[in-house]
Amino acid sequence: MVAAQLRARGLADARVLEAMERVPRELFVPDESAHEAYDDSPLPIGAGQTISQPYMVALSTILARIPVGGRVLEIGTGSGYQAAILAQLAGQVVSIERHRALAESARAALGAAGITNVEVRVGDGSLGVPERAPFDAIVVTAAAPKIPPALVLQLAPGGRLVIPTGPRDVQRLQVVTRGHSGELRIDDHEACRYVPLVGAQGFGELN
Ligand code: SAH
Repeated sequence: MVAAQLRARGLADARVLEAMERVPRELFVPDESAHEAYDDSPLPIGAGQTISQPYMVALSTILARIPVGGRVLEIGTGSGYQAAILAQLAGQVVSIERHRALAESARAALGAAGITNVEVRVGDGSLGVPERAPFDAIVVTAAAPKIPPALVLQLAPGGRLVIPTGPRDVQRLQVVTRGHSGELRIDDHEACRYVPLVGAQGFGELN
């Protein structure tokens, strides 16, 4: 997976590629999909949701530039796999998921992988987790119609928000950087396709 899907496509960040080598992806997919765990694609995980393609997990993590020991927020825990990768690089990861059943199975998978620095919460991640802010990096793994202001407010100085934004069918990965004196900068990266971020600052109310 790392050689054929990541290095071959130009991803070279050694810390992130090592993290991708270390975490067993099969622990984060349903048992019946275990034989597809390392495929070059997203996979269904229940509740109409997916575990992201390995390439998008690696790219988002690289763009987030997680500092050693840093505090990271992930929005959209899903399977827990992206959180597991972030946990290899960060000091502490808070990950928030709206579906309780997914949050519970993600906690179990993270436990099975021996990962202890991820806190999985249930709630509307489009509003972030203000009581745990500020974060050195925020990685959003569901597509938002536009950049949620609440998330920008929760970035530490020097922090980075990685988020797919755009309409429901196709989006662009954007990175918002908060400078050390508070100024914001937005950079556009790859086109991508994620499930929608619902919620108050996403595509609408949770149901
Ligand atoms: N990071 C996940 C990808 C999951 S897909 C992984 O590695 O497997 C995106 C997830 O975002 C879905 O589980 C979906 O339920 C969740 N989601 C969508 N809108 C949300 C919101 N407002 N708050 C929290 N989670 C949300």
